[in-house]
Amino acid sequence: MTKYKAVIGLEMHCEITTTKSKVFSSAKNSYEVDPNVNIAPLDMGFPGTLPVVNKEAVRKALMVSMILNCKQPEYLYFERKNYYYPDLPKGYQLTQETKPAPVGIYGKLKYFVNGEEKEALINNLHLEEDSASMEHFSDVSLIDYNRSGVPLLELVTEPCFHNADETVAFLETMRNIYRYADISEADSKKGHIRCDVNISIMDESLEEKEENFGTKVEVKNVNSFSAVREVINYEIKRQIALKEEGTYDEMPQQTRRWDEATMQTQFMRSKVDAIDYKYFIEPNIPKYKITDSLLEEIRKDIPVLADERKEKYINEYQLSIDDAKNLTKEKNISDYFDKLISLDIKPKDASNYVNTIILGSCNKLDIDIKDLFITPEILAELIKLIYDGKLSKNQAKNALYKAVDTNKSPLDIVKEEGMEQIDNDEEIIKMIDEILSNNSKMVEDYKNGRTNVINFFLGQVMKETKGKVNPAKAMEILKSKLD
Ligand code: ADP
Ligand code: MG
Repeated sequence: MTKYKAVIGLEMHCEITTTKSKVFSSAKNSYEVDPNVNIAPLDMGFPGTLPVVNKEAVRKALMVSMILNCKQPEYLYFERKNYYYPDLPKGYQLTQETKPAPVGIYGKLKYFVNGEEKEALINNLHLEEDSASMEHFSDVSLIDYNRSGVPLLELVTEPCFHNADETVAFLETMRNIYRYADISEADSKKGHIRCDVNISIMDESLEEKEENFGTKVEVKNVNSFSAVREVINYEIKRQIALKEEGTYDEMPQQTRRWDEATMQTQFMRSKVDAIDYKYFIEPNIPKYKITDSLLEEIRKDIPVLADERKEKYINEYQLSIDDAKNLTKEKNISDYFDKLISLDIKPKDASNYVNTIILGSCNKLDIDIKDLFITPEILAELIKLIYDGKLSKNQAKNALYKAVDTNKSPLDIVKEEGMEQIDNDEEIIKMIDEILSNNSKMVEDYKNGRTNVINFFLGQVMKETKGKVNPAKAMEILKSKLD
């Protein structure tokens, strides 16, 4: 029986959430508020309004283009994609076609699938405007124009993925890039990311090139990475069944949609119904030269991204690969860790606290690490009490657990419970003298060679002080007294 191979290409939309204003108007770039409050006349398509290009959005788009190793254009162009829909009041969307030139073309990106390095091929990256958002009810539909004109990046890959694991790993890498480079919050739950997934199958024995590819099925608007995974696995199965039936090759190129309820893709339209958008260059935006010095400036601003941070954690900080991976999974975690390092916490300690108690607490409280009330500053102060011999590791741990349970600062808990260690040598020496004189028989035993009774003495010290003495220090004093 013939074996088949899946061929998958992505169109990934990600809103730029970090500019102040929209991409062609001065309205606020935010729709997490009451509906229809962040709107400029242009966003409603009022006659006589003109677009003004948001330089910040262009810079961010060019930065992503560089990170994806794309070629940047000589001039910036926008095009009108003409169609009518209530969420598009102007009657066209301002976007960029591959001709003359989008913000990025022909790039590639390294990413990892279960530890194995792969390379994704990028066809192009373009900057465009988002449409308004609509909510449909049985007898009415509601439109919110806050989203109209929000800057949107569309990334189109070559058909270079072969299964759900690869595709989702690439999407996760992109999400991280958007977050680390401060382009977008990239939260699919908030609708920042939307994907169209293109899938076909081909005979595994054939060479992987265009003429051997099957006819693609485009699944529109898949809104979560888990849904991308389900869509791919579902379509591969469905297409293989058609192939086995002998009808796959007659299948027209088609657009389908993912139905969460039935967990199936459903037919929407075939390529023959494709719309002609009659693209043309937006005449109200002057041709803008992208100078080398602008590109250099942007390149210098590219922050250290996840993979680079991971390498640094492994090579410079000597952390294990797993720890480094966990710490860079999310930008906010990595930022928290980096902050601890900048506050002079040893990397191994910082990694241990973050990967265990801190992330565990975030999980328990169901919050993002950046919202945790135990800030890196508070944690650093607590760890420094250990470094100064004022607190044992166990006490610090207990204070942290208690802090999470009571929503109190662990530093206050240390103070309130008098956890801080007895630092006064004289006090410790006095106590040890007392213990030794009350146990003279055992002191004799020690001198006759039963040296392990020293642990009994240490136990006594810890008991009397409720663990508030640094055991290493107590041991040192005990030894000097006994020997
Ligand atoms: P269209 O002309 O329909 O817009 P494109 O060639 O621009 O198609 O490709 C759109 C998306 O479809 C890209 O992400 C591309 O990687 C993907 N794609 C193209 N051909 C195939 C195929 N045979 N199988 C799977 N994906 C494909
Ligand atoms: Mg588009």
